[in-house]
Order: sequence, then C-alpha cells, then structure tokens
Amino acid sequence: MLRIHAVGGYNEVGKNMTCIEVDDEAIILDMGLYMDRFVAVQEKNIEMDYETLLGEDAIPNDAVIENLKKKIKAIIVTHAHLDHIGAIRWMGKKYRCPVVATPYTAEVIKKHAKGIENLISINVNSSYKISKNIEVEFINVTHSVPQSAILNIRTRYGNIVYALDYKNDNHPTLGRKTNIKKLKKLDDVLLLIADSTNADEERKTFSEYIAKEMLHDIVMGMELGEHGLFITTFSSHIARLKSILHVSKLLGRKPVFIGRSLHDYITAAENLKLVNFSKEGEIIKNAGRAEKKLRTMNRNKNDYVFIVTGSMGEKNAVLTKIVNEDLALKISPFDFIIFSCEVIPTPVIQANRKILEQKLHRKKARIFKDIHVSGHASREDLRDLIKILQPRHILPAHGDLAKTASMAALAGEMGYELGKNVHILQNGQSIKLA
Ligand SMILES: [Zn+2]
Repeated sequence: MLRIHAVGGYNEVGKNMTCIEVDDEAIILDMGLYMDRFVAVQEKNIEMDYETLLGEDAIPNDAVIENLKKKIKAIIVTHAHLDHIGAIRWMGKKYRCPVVATPYTAEVIKKHAKGIENLISINVNSSYKISKNIEVEFINVTHSVPQSAILNIRTRYGNIVYALDYKNDNHPTLGRKTNIKKLKKLDDVLLLIADSTNADEERKTFSEYIAKEMLHDIVMGMELGEHGLFITTFSSHIARLKSILHVSKLLGRKPVFIGRSLHDYITAAENLKLVNFSKEGEIIKNAGRAEKKLRTMNRNKNDYVFIVTGSMGEKNAVLTKIVNEDLALKISPFDFIIFSCEVIPTPVIQANRKILEQKLHRKKARIFKDIHVSGHASREDLRDLIKILQPRHILPAHGDLAKTASMAALAGEMGYELGKNVHILQNGQSIKLA
C-alpha cells in the first residue's frame, strides 16, 4: 500500500508538508511555516507556541496523519528555507524520529529549532537508508539557498520524486549545477510531486548569474557618486550575498552585513566553509548595540555598502529601523536602496513592503526594485522535468489552486489526465497510489 497525504502547502505557497505512507511505515517530507501568517503572529507580540501557531494557520495542520504518528520513521527536509523547515521547532518533537537534511540545512535547523537532538546530516548527491523498505536520495539542485535537494524516495512500488523549490541553473554562482544526469538515470518513477510556484510563468527561469549582472549594472553603471548604498535581499540567499560582496569590491567600498538573520545564515555557511564573508566584510548581528560604530559609518557612507535585513518590510528588521530613524545609520536624499528580491505575494507581507517603500520615497531615496531572478522552475523547466522523469503520476504542490491547476494543465498538455494520473489535492486530503 502506498498513500500520499497532503498536509500543508497544497492550498498556499508556504507551510509545506507531505507524508508518504508505505505499508506499515511512513515518512514526512518538509515541515514549514506559512510566512505570511507567521509574520502576522510575530507582529502581535504574543507567545509563540504550537496551539497559537496552529490556530493562526502559521504551521501545517497535521490532523490528517494523527493516527500515523507511530509509523513515522523520519522527517526529511529539502532545504533551509523556513517554509520548508520552520515548523520543526514547534512540531518536530511530536514525531519521535530523526530529522534528515543536507549539512547546510542541518546547520540552520540547529540554530532555529534548538531542541531537536536527532538531526542527521547527509551530503547532496548521496543516499540515506531509512528502513529496509525506504531509502531517500538527496539529488543536488540549484535554488536560492545552499545545498538544496530534490528527494528521490525509493520504495518497492517505484520511485517518488519530491521536486519542490529548484531551478535548472546552468551558471550557478555558488555550489554545483542541478544534477540532471542523476535525474535522467531515474527510472520507474511512480510519482512526481512538483513545484507549482511558477508553473504559470511561460519561460525558463534565468540563472543566478543574471542577478549578479543586474546588480553590477546598477552599482557600476549609475551616478552613485558619494551617496549611500543600501542593499537588501533574502538573508538565506548566500549566492546573492556573494554577488553583492563582489560588486562592493568593484566599487571599492567595504561590505557591512547588518541584522540578526543575515548573521545567522552567513555563520551557518561559514561554519561549513562554503563562504568566508567575514574576511572581506563586517557582520553586525545586533544593530541596536552597535550605535557608535554605525554613527561613524553614517558619517562616511561612501566607504561602505550596507547589506541589511528587511527586504519584505518586516517591522523589526534593520531597514525598517533605519527608515524609522531608530538607528544611528540614516538614509539621506538620493541614497540608493536596492531590493534584490521579489515581494512574496501574500497580503501581510505586501502591505508591510508598501509601507516601507512609502517611507523611503518620503526620504527621497532612489529605489531599485525586483533586482532578482527567482529560485523556482518556470513552466518550460517543469516541462523538461516531466519529460526527463516520465512519471506515472503527477501531484502538483507548493501553491494555491490557481498554481496547482496551472501545473495540472501543463501535465495535461503532455498527455496526462486530471483525476486519472494528475491529482489535485487540498491540505488534509490523501490519495492511494498502490
Ligand atoms: Zn525554497
């Protein structure tokens, strides 16, 4: 018997969690936060416990697998983004089993979910035997955080490929390319669980190299002069931070990373020797405690590139504090503010970002938005993936109905049939495939 339980991430972009039940065993894939709801809870300044987060819809509702608890052999996670690992902190211990992840992801979990003891670290492009009947392979992919993986779960019913959050980047600026060779070798794919985030974007997702060139074009090709330069991006996007470091060097300015989450993600990468940003730049974890230093930097802004947290307009992040004049570092007219990110299209985050931009306009800053390429495969990449894997069934995931339906339509173009071998599930629903 093989059954798939859609726990989270099938009604929204966020709180990803899927359970695969194979005979008398089961595994959980990802355990993430719904960032929009999580940010809303954070802003209420209330105690964050399991019940509150569940009530606020910020973590997956795992009622659908409540009676499988004893069967769960492992929680396997694909990469270090919080919409894939963020709920482990509150839900991980419910399941008495190991959490299995690639080294960078494990490093981030150690920091984020401190109480989790049974954490197993597996290199990309290697396998982990969960039991006699289930083995999982971490296939290296490019995304927007180091050491991301597509999971291949080997069972006696065939392979299940869990391919969320990846793109096929032929010119990655950090780490290795997506292991297409390995994907091509997989046969007998019973099911592909596919990333629907960009299934309606009719293109190939561009390389991270393009984002690096976009940054270069602004920083080196415009009249920056002596003005301040502030850049913000997703704190976990180590490849992007590396590109920012690169353009800082070309500009002859010293990069200064400011903010707790930047500090944490960079430290995790440095612990594994993936990068060495501290050698070339400065990292300030707590801006509130660095007043003297920031005041000096503020007087000599043209010596620095300030890389700050707060790309989504989060209320407690550094960029918001700077704009609100809560720090010694200020924004002056005509300073450059580069948003090297997209805005996550969910209501609370969009509203926060809008407020931040309005305040920046009032300060007469020069704003550069969407200096970014996505980490998610687009429609034509997904078509390639289906072609390569030739799965017997497809289950669209990582999106609301509009996105999963778009993925199902793509499968339809390739000869699949909705209800027969393409399945749209909602959170809390299950499907038996063998
Ligand atoms: Zn991701």
